[in-house]
Amino acid sequence: MSILKIATIGNPVLREVARPLSREELASPRWQRFIDDLIETMMDANGAGLAANQVYQPVRVCALHVKDNPRYPYKPNIPLTILVNPEIEPVGDETFMNYEGCLSVPNLRAQVPRAVHVRVRAWDRQGEDLAFDVKGLTAGTYQHEVDHLLGKVFLDRVVDTTTIATWADFERHHQAAFVERARALVARFGG
Ligand code: ZN
Repeated sequence: MSILKIATIGNPVLREVARPLSREELASPRWQRFIDDLIETMMDANGAGLAANQVYQPVRVCALHVKDNPRYPYKPNIPLTILVNPEIEPVGDETFMNYEGCLSVPNLRAQVPRAVHVRVRAWDRQGEDLAFDVKGLTAGTYQHEVDHLLGKVFLDRVVDTTTIATWADFERHHQAAFVERARALVARFGG
């Protein structure tokens, strides 16, 4: 396994709409090895998720994992999850304001409206069908990752540009209020 290079904002690969993988491709050693590398790269960088086009492969694959994440100490844990060819749709119209960051957007965070409840359909890394609902703060993480596969980054979704902050300024000026809201969401929906 190896650690892959992460593309940063301005690199055209982040703006490509990722192509689906066939089940045959997914089963191949090449793409199974790629998924191992995607996971290792995400964990090495303390990401909550990582999409394939963030590591220069514009295919519809992303990984998610939160385990007591130091970048996002208020985030509920998410077991390691691989989504292949994911589709995501909101359930209902309730949204919340999520303070997001991204390994491809160094040292910036901003508030982004996200659906509080989504339905996810995808394959796992073996090509088996997955279908499940995600609620609360974790729903924001899923929407962030699937956005990458559509060529979007969280900055595209910012409504109030005055919420854009460096990580240090987020911690100093915005974290306390956000963590209070985040805790209320976690209390309501659990991990
Ligand atoms: Zn990201």
